[in-house]
Amino acid sequence: MVKVKFEYKILISYLLIGGLWISFSDQLAKKIISDPNYLTEIQTYKGWFYVLVTGILFYFLLKKHLIKIRNAEKKARESDQLKTAFLQNISHEIRTPMNGIVGFAGLLKENDLTKDQKEMYLDIITKSSDQLLNVVNDVLDVSLIDSGNVIINKTQFNLNEFLEQIYSVHSTILRKNISLRLNNTLYSSDHIVFSDSVKLGQILDNLISNAIKYTPKGEVELGCETKENKLLFSVKDSGIGIAPEYHEKIFDRFHRAEIETTKTIGGAGLGLAICRGNVNLLGGDIWVESNLGIGSKFYFTIPGDFVVQKPTVEEKADSKSVLRPGCVLVAEDEEYNFLYISRILNDAGIDFLRAKNGQEAVDICRKNANLGLILMDIKMPVLNGYEAVKIIREFRNEIPIIAQTAFAIGNEKKKALDVGCNDYIAKPFKREELLNKIRENTKAITDL
Ligand code: ADP
Repeated sequence: MVKVKFEYKILISYLLIGGLWISFSDQLAKKIISDPNYLTEIQTYKGWFYVLVTGILFYFLLKKHLIKIRNAEKKARESDQLKTAFLQNISHEIRTPMNGIVGFAGLLKENDLTKDQKEMYLDIITKSSDQLLNVVNDVLDVSLIDSGNVIINKTQFNLNEFLEQIYSVHSTILRKNISLRLNNTLYSSDHIVFSDSVKLGQILDNLISNAIKYTPKGEVELGCETKENKLLFSVKDSGIGIAPEYHEKIFDRFHRAEIETTKTIGGAGLGLAICRGNVNLLGGDIWVESNLGIGSKFYFTIPGDFVVQKPTVEEKADSKSVLRPGCVLVAEDEEYNFLYISRILNDAGIDFLRAKNGQEAVDICRKNANLGLILMDIKMPVLNGYEAVKIIREFRNEIPIIAQTAFAIGNEKKKALDVGCNDYIAKPFKREELLNKIRENTKAITDL
């Protein structure tokens, strides 16, 4: 269908209404009014009436049209500004790593380089290439989100293992003056979720990288909990913080909190826009709480689509032998040891939480009244197992604590029992040994 332009529409309507009014208004007036004097008077007012009615009508039509045009103009101006910001930012973000690549590739051609120098230059080239690739990927991601072409691929995965993996990857590449903590308060029975693990990983990676990037020195904490049937993730840092006027804007493309410190830190201003796009696609929200100079905490939610694992036929038949010690707290700093214990507990259908040092064990114990047993490693950072048990005994006397340690010499068992442990298991232990210890120490509870 041919689209008639606005100005022609106005002209045609004006002529049409005018013509109809002239043709029919006289006939109408003659039908209603018989007095010729009165009729002449009416005909003068008839013209004014037409001007008034068409004036009001065209005023509203024009106003509506102008609002539409002004909005379009505003959008075009904004998009123009964004394009300029995009070009400036992207150009800077591309030139910086390119400089490294081109510069050091040139230097590599020199003949008198030592082996160390060559390795260093190659390292810089590799890192700069990765940086460049990240910028390109970010730009692609933003355009895919904008054009609605992102495909969400939901699968079942173990959230606890997933978080541990994210934590380990970032822990290995941390700067010296930053520490990373994982505060996962999910029970193991909640661990199988149905979501897009790739997108979730991308969001968390982005937030953790930002937290590390904008924290010159201090701590970053990755948290996960369930809230009102949703999964609530958080990334907290003790970095430079964000002024209140930027709390919303930073989630828009190319927007950066323009404070002096940020200017010296590179960034295209795309990461948070991608995070928000992905969080929304997963069905959640993202926001930040932050204070300048103190730190920031980014939160986001996704639907808590937990997959309930139904017991198999054999498990049902053997349900009496299934251990139900409540939730076990595994205090263990070594990754491989924890993986081994978590595998045994998982297979036995026992819920568990993890603490990576004695202090975390004390904190978790304070917060979780429904813990049924503690497996306490002795040699741990921050606070060792003995010290942690002593503190725990001050406020929880009844909880069974099993010390587990690789110190197999002398009086370790006696020492453990003296500080308040109920039992002791020496590493290395076999699956059945551990389960027996748990069974023995929780018998009193399960018999209740
Ligand atoms: P980029 O970091 O590349 O600039 P982002 O979209 O990831 O882009 O972040 C947008 C802006 O939000 C950043 O420029 C920075 O000003 C601010 N910001 C993001 N994360 C933090 C944080 N953890 N602490 C302080 N400021 C932050």
